Amino acid sequence: MKAILINKDETAGYTCKLSEVDEAQLPEGDVLVQVEYSTLNYKDGLAITGKAPVVRRFPMVAGIDFAGTVIESTNSRFQAGDQVILNGWGVGETHWGGLAEKARVKADWLIKKPEALSAAQTMAIGTAGYTAMLCVQAIQSAGITPESGTVLVTGANGGVGSFALRILKQLGYTTCASTGRSEEAEYLKTLGASEIIDRAELSEPGKPLQAERWAAVIDSVGSHTLANACAQTQWGGAVAACGLAQGMDLKMTVAPFILRGVSLLGVDSVMQPIAQRESAWAALAEIINQDDLNTMTNEITLDQVIETGAALLEGKVRGRVAVKI
Ligand code: NDP
Repeated sequence: MKAILINKDETAGYTCKLSEVDEAQLPEGDVLVQVEYSTLNYKDGLAITGKAPVVRRFPMVAGIDFAGTVIESTNSRFQAGDQVILNGWGVGETHWGGLAEKARVKADWLIKKPEALSAAQTMAIGTAGYTAMLCVQAIQSAGITPESGTVLVTGANGGVGSFALRILKQLGYTTCASTGRSEEAEYLKTLGASEIIDRAELSEPGKPLQAERWAAVIDSVGSHTLANACAQTQWGGAVAACGLAQGMDLKMTVAPFILRGVSLLGVDSVMQPIAQRESAWAALAEIINQDDLNTMTNEITLDQVIETGAALLEGKVRGRVAVKI
């Protein structure tokens, strides 16, 4: 089978190539899947370029998510012909992933594809869209409604940011997009942003408490951006933090939490229980339509994955990248 194979050894160093791989080498698992679509997420960019130690075992087939059809299953939950999706669980990091023609995985990691979405649509949404939905559900659970006020979305041109804007718009929220690419203002407005700010306003160290601007925040950027976003969140607001595009560091005070009752909500898509996954995907199937996906998604093939992965890390990719296998 064809696969994006990452390897590391003393002579060649860290390598990532489109390779022919013997299917007999697929790892253990109770379900074999014919992969139809995968995607490129930020984490895939890190794995492909080797810029962060995402890959924990070598050789590794890249790809943290996929959609496809079950070929063989020894688990009673799945039969040949079932259409499935997978996000996370360490796939593409510690277990061979979805940027390949086939994948063998644990049944416990799979969910049935929502009927309303095609395999191509689920991967146009991908882990970025699914994570954006988890973030929206997190702020909803914290009591934030469209009447609460404006929701700030950072990393707005990215996969998580683009989907967060679209989902919030469909649910009736008013949003402000923070971006380093003001030339993409029209795109961000199409997605639903009512206001756009330069990410430079948030990216430097700031005061512990600042003027209250946001009812809630969906942050995929981390570092000073997250600290300033918390410092600008109004009394009783909620900040969903899922990413580190600016940095993993977080230097701030407890002031927003103890003086304004702000909640900082961590969101991890990788180890989410099945029930939350199904709930997020069901909500996505209701909210996202093909027009949204046309606006946000570029489709590529396996032979374009390596160069696109590098471009994604350089912040040169807008929205989402679906990979047709
Ligand atoms: P993308 O690369 O698509 O988007 C990231 C965006 O962040 C960029 O488009 C850019 O937006 C902004 N950005 C990039 N560099 C900087 C910087 N130095 N300072 C401020 N902003 C910056 O990635 P994704 O949307 O796929 O992922 C975003 C983050 O979320 C990543 O850190 C990823 O690892 C994380 N993530 C976490 C998940 C979880 O389970 N917790 C799941 C999925 C993703 P703009 O050009 O508009 O400024």
